[in-house]
Amino acid sequence: MFPDASTGLLSSKMTINIDLPRVGCSAQKHISYYLKYCRFVVKSLELASFQQFLCWMLKKEKIEEQKVSCIDIKVFPRRRKNGKCLAGNCDVNRGKIRIYPKPIKVCLFFTQKFGKQTFMAYAGNRAQAALIHELLHLKYVADEPKVRELTREYFFTFTKNHSVNSPWKRRVNTLIFRLDALDESSENRFTK
Ligand SMILES: [Zn+2]
Repeated sequence: MFPDASTGLLSSKMTINIDLPRVGCSAQKHISYYLKYCRFVVKSLELASFQQFLCWMLKKEKIEEQKVSCIDIKVFPRRRKNGKCLAGNCDVNRGKIRIYPKPIKVCLFFTQKFGKQTFMAYAGNRAQAALIHELLHLKYVADEPKVRELTREYFFTFTKNHSVNSPWKRRVNTLIFRLDALDESSENRFTK
């Protein structure tokens, strides 16, 4: 599907990262939930089809793969000062990308409302969209509108090629952009 791509380059830069001292006791109480969530996210990001897609995207955007020094998959969520949670962020100068989970409260609410299968699909796709978004920041730095527009385009290009075209999948994918997932990752560039 993405013929120029070689595989696995970015997945070798991914590590699971727990910041225990930085999170509150309530989050630590749910460590087993967050670890499960994290493992699922890693699997979604390591999918060969997704890795191939990322290589293709980086080439198309002329973003050098060496610009990415590491991708930290955070076990615990992180709130901004305004209370919203980050989906990800990118230290553009150091090439350091972080991907964060949704807080457990939101996850449980979501699971109750839409079911476990839909939540899992949402969580995996949310992380994929967040990684696409943060990689694009390496090129477009603080141009948030451009990054959002391209994230949407690239994410749908990927899912069109790799999801079954079912109404359920489409609904999950629409949720990614409706539920603040990517709004959360803005305004937090380390561009100094
Ligand atoms: Zn952004």
